[in-house]
Amino acid sequence: MHRCPIQHCKQCGSTVAYRIPDDGDTKPRAVCTACNTIHYENPLNVVGTVPVWGASGEYVLLCKRNIEPRFGKWTLPAGFMELNETTAQGAARETVEEAGAQFEMGEIFTLMNVARVGQVHMYYRARLLSDQFNPGVETIEARLFTEAEIPWDEIAFRTVKETLEHYFADRQRGRFGFHTIDIA
Ligand SMILES: [Zn+2]
Repeated sequence: MHRCPIQHCKQCGSTVAYRIPDDGDTKPRAVCTACNTIHYENPLNVVGTVPVWGASGEYVLLCKRNIEPRFGKWTLPAGFMELNETTAQGAARETVEEAGAQFEMGEIFTLMNVARVGQVHMYYRARLLSDQFNPGVETIEARLFTEAEIPWDEIAFRTVKETLEHYFADRQRGRFGFHTIDIA
């Protein structure tokens, strides 16, 4: 999930060099060696859902990844936010694309800073309206799991594991909160 360093200028196509710009900046940036354009890089947002089923939300929908990284591992439906959409719209879009699920969006549930790789992950709760799924090309299989059935050792990402742990803890407590977590 690490991003590759920028190699070419987006303005003129020349090579860039990572250096601290001469404008009082304090961080190295990709600066064009020809036209001096500074390319700022900022964190990316990953948005997704915790889709649940059952009278008390005892089942959670997970998708088995058909893509790298973590091919064959289980994840909640999530992906990179697109331009011109809200976080909730992006989370809903990913849930349709990856699981082909029908659902009703709920409240924001987790916000996780993954500063090491320059990402912010956000998950919304969602209530499934059907237990039939039509997964897209990025998913091998979409299925429901109870807490006891969750394949904890086969979860694709730490952010997904954190979100699932908070979901089942809150469910046990009978009250769902909003959790902000810094992933080291
Ligand atoms: Zn340039």
